[in-house]
Amino acid sequence: MDPELQGEARALLRAARAAIHEWAEEGVHAFERAEPAALPDETPAAPSKGAATSGAAAALEAVRAEIGDCTRCPLHEGRTQIVFGDGNAEADLLFVGEGPGEQEDKQGIPFVGRAGELLTKMIERGLELPRSEVYICNIVKCRPPGNRTPLPNEVSACRGFLDGQIDAIAPKVIVALGKPATSLMLGHDVAITRVRGTWQEYRGIPLMPTFHPAYILRQYTEENRRLVWEDLKAALARCREG
Ligand code: SF4
Repeated sequence: MDPELQGEARALLRAARAAIHEWAEEGVHAFERAEPAALPDETPAAPSKGAATSGAAAALEAVRAEIGDCTRCPLHEGRTQIVFGDGNAEADLLFVGEGPGEQEDKQGIPFVGRAGELLTKMIERGLELPRSEVYICNIVKCRPPGNRTPLPNEVSACRGFLDGQIDAIAPKVIVALGKPATSLMLGHDVAITRVRGTWQEYRGIPLMPTFHPAYILRQYTEENRRLVWEDLKAALARCREG
């Protein structure tokens, strides 16, 4: 069974036991069985979680199908494979980097190298969310040579796919990882040290810029870790507001 479902089932069981215990203390030992109320013939079916899930997942799959074996920009020449994205199609929290690195290009999954391990740790140990609950992707889906920042023509060729992913997932909050991703999404060059921790917006969705985990690995100071932690906590709190 899914560990999250298992946790929910245990919590329900605990709550039921506590209620039975309370009723017993109040002298209630039996209930009359109520007949289920008859439903009108034309009752519309309530939308199920499953239907919503498959809707978002299907919309994401449509974006992936649209990309196909893309050759719309020169980045296709050096890639091993397209790195589309990873995670929950219905995530509240979306992390966006600028482009896949060497390991991502090899494995076809975003943020799986050393920086990815740190990001996973921040999500799982810091925010206490399974990585599979959030969604992670990049602005360009193919590795730029030598991990350079994607060029404007590459970004404009690929941006529609990022926007398609955002529309499909409809996250409550986007976290932009690092200066290039933040600058590319905001449409102007930013100083990440100034803009991080401040609320921005992309396609009408609140966007929190923060340091890229690769930067944190290079500048592994207590202060930088504290700042990223503050940004992530603010992003999670905003997700839980609405
Ligand atoms: Fe196509 Fe995007 Fe890859 Fe360029 S980076 S080839 S636009 S998928």
